[in-house]
Formats: sequence, C-alpha cells, structure tokens
Amino acid sequence: MVLLGMSTKTEARQNKYTHLISSSNNKTKAFRMITTKLSIEDQLPLTCSRSGTCCYGKLVLLNPWELACMAREKKITPQEFRKQYCELGGIRLRFDGKIGWKGQQACSQYADNTGCSIHSGRPLACRLYPLGRQIQSEEVHYMYQGNEFPCLEGCPEVTGLPYMSVAEYLKGQLTAKFEKAQDEYLDVMQNLADIAFELLLDTGLAKSGDTKTLPLWREAGNELPEALADSIGQEWIDWLMLPEITENIDDPVAFARKHNDFLRLKAQEQFGALQTNHELHEASVLIMGVALHLARGIGADPKVLAEHWIATAKSHGALE
Ligand code: SF4
Ligand code: SF4
Repeated sequence: MVLLGMSTKTEARQNKYTHLISSSNNKTKAFRMITTKLSIEDQLPLTCSRSGTCCYGKLVLLNPWELACMAREKKITPQEFRKQYCELGGIRLRFDGKIGWKGQQACSQYADNTGCSIHSGRPLACRLYPLGRQIQSEEVHYMYQGNEFPCLEGCPEVTGLPYMSVAEYLKGQLTAKFEKAQDEYLDVMQNLADIAFELLLDTGLAKSGDTKTLPLWREAGNELPEALADSIGQEWIDWLMLPEITENIDDPVAFARKHNDFLRLKAQEQFGALQTNHELHEASVLIMGVALHLARGIGADPKVLAEHWIATAKSHGALE
C-alpha cells in the first residue's frame, strides 16, 4: 500500500517557487502584463469613486473558501452558488451580467443600482483591486498591472479624491483573512503536487524507467482551463471546490487545513492500493492536474508551475 502524504516531503515543497498574482485581471492580458511594484507606504489615489467600472469584463478567480464565503453571503449553498454563478468547476466567477462599461459584461454579482450583491463576502481579487498581490519565494509584494494606475482608465476622477497608502487600503478592505486563505490554499496546492511526486518517485514508477508521466504533467500545465477541468473529472472537481465544510467558515486557516486533510484522505482511498505502474502513472497525472487546477484558482500560472515541478522530478531521477 502506498501511504500518501506520509513520506518525507518531496521537493515540490522544498524547492518552493511560486509566482502568485491575485487581482481582477483584464481577461485578455492576464498574467502577461508589465506590473508596477509597490511598497506598503506608497500613497495612491485609492479612494474608490464607486462607479463600478471594474466590475465589468474582468477575470475573478476563486479558491474554495472564497466560494463558500460568497455562497453564505448569497444565502445559498456553495453547490448552488457554483451552478448559478461560476465557471470551470467553481474557480472562476461568471461575468454574464448586463453589457455596460466599454461594451463588456458585468460580473454575475453586480446589480445596476446597488453594486456588488455580495460585498461583505467578495473575494480577495475584488478587495485588492486595483492592486494585486504576488508571492515569490515566500515573499509577498503588492503591485498593480501596467505602468498606469488601473482606476484611471474608468474612473479618472479618483485623482481628486483622498490618497492613501497601500497599507491603509488593505486594512480598509479587510484583506487579511482573505490573504491568509490564499496562503493556506497555496499549501494545499503544494500538498496535492507532493502526492503526484510520491506516486511517481516513491512507488518505483520513476525507477521503472517511466517516461510518460512528466510529459502529461506538462500537458496539464499547458491545457486550456476548460480542458484541464474536464480531464480531472467531476468527482475530483467537487472534492476540490465543494468540500462540504460547514464549520470554520470564519477561520480560513482551519477551513483550508480541514480541506487539505479531506483531500489527502480521498487520495489515500483512491490511490493507496494501486499496484501497477500504469495505475500509478494515471494517478500521478490526475492529482497533478488537480494541483494545477487549484493553482489557477489562486492566481498562479499552471504552465510555470508544471515546468518547475517537472525539473524538480527530473533532478530526482524521473525521466521524460
Ligand atoms: S475602477 Fe477603481 S475607482 Fe473605479 S470603481 Fe473600480 S476600484 Fe473604484
Ligand atoms: S464580486 Fe462584486 S466586487 Fe467583485 S467583480 Fe463581482 S460585483 Fe464586482
């Protein structure tokens, strides 16, 4: 029997490299834009004029705890919230509202006269906007996308409103809990990737001369989000996005850790008794796909992560 999550942590964790961006990204330019790095003391025109232009045509990605928070705010179950308002198994908020600013569709949560219908439960990307958050080698930075302050495009009037520091803005937006959730889900992502490593490196699969697993990790990293979600399958998508944790909703750290234990248990149930190299190969590819799907939901780049994890596996004897 393979005891997953029980071996010394594989290098997915030891060589931690993550480039994480969280913000309401422009759909077409997500992840590829120049960014302006900020210090916490920088003074910017961060008083919102409340015109709502940033609730049109954006890409808002979600982690499972944020999905649960939004559902609670809407007074429906996370299953219902996902069905009505999300895409890609729950990692992306749907923008299928009225056409508005610049001919783009509004967020599914945007109401014409009142604005965000889930304001108190809105996700980190919306709390941070116009800023974004990056984590690289465990260091957190704040930034905005492009060279020009993003609000100026839709709300140039902000320059006439009070300026404030990045630190004051984050405090006012109550981002702390949501940032913690994102950090915890980064760990969940790495724990899932660790399972893929264990199935490849600790079971004898890599030593058998397997050359098929790493190319499929790469394929998962390069796949379109829809195709990756399909290849993972409904069962794992549900375990990932709808963990049915009803307690700890106010404590994202406890929530994510409980979710992590649940996912590890499911991996143990599903993969613990696998015997053949083919089964181990398929399981390693599947769980790597789950890790990369979650990675996308928390704003990381699956392609970059897959390449990093492939290089790490190769440095430990895996072949392609
Ligand atoms: S673009 Fe900026 S100022 Fe305009 S509504 Fe959004 S956050 Fe507020
Ligand atoms: S969740 Fe709320 S704040 Fe975020 S884009 Fe949608 S309507 Fe705007």
